[in-house]
Amino acid sequence: MTTDPVASEALDLDDAFKRLRLPRIRTCWQEWADRAAREELSFADFLRGLVSDELASRESTKLRRLLRQANFPFHKTIEEFDFRLQPQLRRQVFQNYLEDSFVREGRSLALIGQPGLGKTHLAVAVGVRAVHRFSSVRFVTVQELVNRYTASESLKQRARILRPYKACDLLVLDELGYLPHGPEVAPLLYEVVSARYERAATIITSNKSLKEWGRVLSDTALASALVDRLMHHGDVYYLKGKSYRLRDKQVSESEEAA
Ligand code: ADP
Ligand code: MG
Repeated sequence: MTTDPVASEALDLDDAFKRLRLPRIRTCWQEWADRAAREELSFADFLRGLVSDELASRESTKLRRLLRQANFPFHKTIEEFDFRLQPQLRRQVFQNYLEDSFVREGRSLALIGQPGLGKTHLAVAVGVRAVHRFSSVRFVTVQELVNRYTASESLKQRARILRPYKACDLLVLDELGYLPHGPEVAPLLYEVVSARYERAATIITSNKSLKEWGRVLSDTALASALVDRLMHHGDVYYLKGKSYRLRDKQVSESEEAA
């Protein structure tokens, strides 16, 4: 059914777009109407212009929200990572983790190595890619997760804190084993990892090898169950070499000496 155009002339477009929740169209329709008149756009092209402006604006709002929610410690992309410094990690192989299938199939990745080798950078780069495909991503250090969990008192509150970490499409758990972990950590990590098992993707970074996780978590049985679940559909990479931060320092010191 169409409305009589004369009767609808009284319609306040500004108000209508507001009620229809079309905020971008609300601000740009006049501009598009002027442009259509000036450039003699077809009705279809005029409509296409309006709708694509609204879509673009919604997608960028959504991206900003997802990036904020992800809580990355910094914004890094894979293009900024120098793979020549990590010859054991090939760019073509790492491409697997940047693809949608990594997230969709709920796979896992463990990045292990000394500080400064780019573990967090790589994990963030995978996360940033996933956000750009509109996946929900959460980044949290193990310590931060533990602190938030133990700071809340009731079981209900604790469940609420864990929910997004269990439910998001991709979880990055950073810095396992950096600080000594108390007895509450192994069950907590196991709970999160097993809730995601075969359902959602997980990346863990650590400065301790998988074999050491039992000691680090003071619970060999839980640690091995955790590694078992992670590695069933997952891979582990041991990064080697010098710290990127230290490398820079040595270069500047030798430059100073020269
Ligand atoms: P880790 O998590 O292993 O301690 P980070 O990912 O925090 O290391 O890296 C430390 C800093 O060095 C970051 O600013 C990161 O972007 C940079 N970095 C590390 N490795 C590389 C690399 N191969 N190419 C480019 N930047 C790197
Ligand atoms: Mg790190």
